[in-house]
Amino acid sequence: MKPFPELRPAPWDLAVVAAVLTLALFCGVMVWGGAATGLTAIVTADGEEIDRFPLSAPAGERTYSAGGYTLTADVSPDGIQITASDCPTQDCIRTGRISRSGQSIVCLPARFILRLEGKTEINSSGVDAVIG
Ligand SMILES: [Zn+2]
Repeated sequence: MKPFPELRPAPWDLAVVAAVLTLALFCGVMVWGGAATGLTAIVTADGEEIDRFPLSAPAGERTYSAGGYTLTADVSPDGIQITASDCPTQDCIRTGRISRSGQSIVCLPARFILRLEGKTEINSSGVDAVIG
């Protein structure tokens, strides 16, 4: 009635080790990843999602067609900005670079919205000071 009592603690030990390792990994990602970690860019045109990608994707330019206009977004791990657009107002370009969750670039003539979503609450705990 006592089947291998000495084996019982083993799974718990493993669970504890796994939990500690997971925590350590999370901490490491937060420290190394900086502000942009976990951010997702969501692009909509005329209310429909046309693109979605993590900000950690390889840096480069992405071109979108929306409302008859063409917008070029410069994507890098530390933010996104519209660098070229043939819309009449150019507000989307003047918005500049966005890099935080909840920020967005709107191009009204093109009915184009590029917004960032994700966990940037980490920023409020002092990462900004490191960047400066
Ligand atoms: Zn525009």
